[in-house]
Amino acid sequence: MSEPPACEVIDPADASNCPKGHRCESCGTEHGELAVETTTNRRLGTFCLTMCRRCAAFGQDVPIALSTAMRLVEQHLEHLGECYGPSSDGPRAY
Ligand SMILES: [Zn+2]
Ligand SMILES: [Zn+2]
Repeated sequence: MSEPPACEVIDPADASNCPKGHRCESCGTEHGELAVETTTNRRLGTFCLTMCRRCAAFGQDVPIALSTAMRLVEQHLEHLGECYGPSSDGPRAY
């Protein structure tokens, strides 16, 4: 028996499905330990960023362009799965 998880149990801050990038999205370094962190923008929503440990320590204060943040929010919704997808009220795309 393996039922898909109910939508309500999906945490928007869950980064376990997010692909890790090759460089820190904040400072651009390709060295050191990189990890996917989620951050929540009060206006836009939750999105994920690949960050080095140094930048991750600053967490919420990543300097990021509005247009980039909007794109990241959309991409992160896809990482979370169909429950949070843009068409969750209509027919499922997949
Ligand atoms: Zn960094
Ligand atoms: Zn993501």
